[in-house]
Amino acid sequence: MNDLLHLEGLRRSFGDFLAIDDLNLVLPAGRLTSIIGPNGAGKTTLINLVTGLLSPDRGRVLLEGCDITRLSADQRVRRGLGRSFQVSTVFSQMTVADNLRLPVLARRNPAAVPLRRLEGDAAVEAEVDGLLDAFDIQELREQQAGSLAHGSQRFVELAMAVASRPRLCFLDEPCAGLNPSERERLLQLISRLKADTTFIVVEHDMDVVFAISEWIIVLNRGAVLAEGPPDRIRADAAVRETYLGGLAS
Ligand code: ADP
Ligand code: MG
Repeated sequence: MNDLLHLEGLRRSFGDFLAIDDLNLVLPAGRLTSIIGPNGAGKTTLINLVTGLLSPDRGRVLLEGCDITRLSADQRVRRGLGRSFQVSTVFSQMTVADNLRLPVLARRNPAAVPLRRLEGDAAVEAEVDGLLDAFDIQELREQQAGSLAHGSQRFVELAMAVASRPRLCFLDEPCAGLNPSERERLLQLISRLKADTTFIVVEHDMDVVFAISEWIIVLNRGAVLAEGPPDRIRADAAVRETYLGGLAS
């Protein structure tokens, strides 16, 4: 497998608190990886460091061998990094279609042409349609994103993340607040999309984690406690003690 992402000696503190502690990781392309660990372990901070919302105190982030540590979040999106957020971040005043036009336009035309002037662009509209179809949310097209139920917003948000056609995409607790049928739909979507995008999923729902992951990284206090295929993680004594304690094997 070729390596997509390398983290080298990544460190980040908030005041005296060390949130990410000299982290080294290699993530190959095409392997669905989950990051698990207790609340406050540093999972979201790690995503923020990789996607450029936070800068590390030291260490490097390499995407396909290129050092992206100093690039802005926008520049990283253009290099193929995508994400969805732990808390939904749709543009609530805009329609679902406009929410999708934004990342499509940003990718096709980084010079940022005003949205309303491009509404009629056939190529953009075809792409937006394709996303609405793929996510099975055509009926939400003209609805205001902020008026949607939580689950629908999560699907719109995931469609936005995928609209930038990332090669590597982080999903921060995508199943939080979804009902069982929405969760099932989301898992099916991820397994369809993973042919084109390498997903890194932060998730608390262990049924989901063990169902979809090809590799699991256990983060604890900003460091890797264990990593490996699901079977090995399930059997790992240290992991069971710190995190999976209550789970049946
Ligand atoms: P997780 O996503 O694993 O639950 P986070 O990465 O959100 O954990 O947070 C890790 C730790 O860093 C927590 O103790 C949190 O309070 C702290 N932290 C995260 N972001 C900030 C910030 N911007 N300022 C101060 N402390 C932060
Ligand atoms: Mg988090």
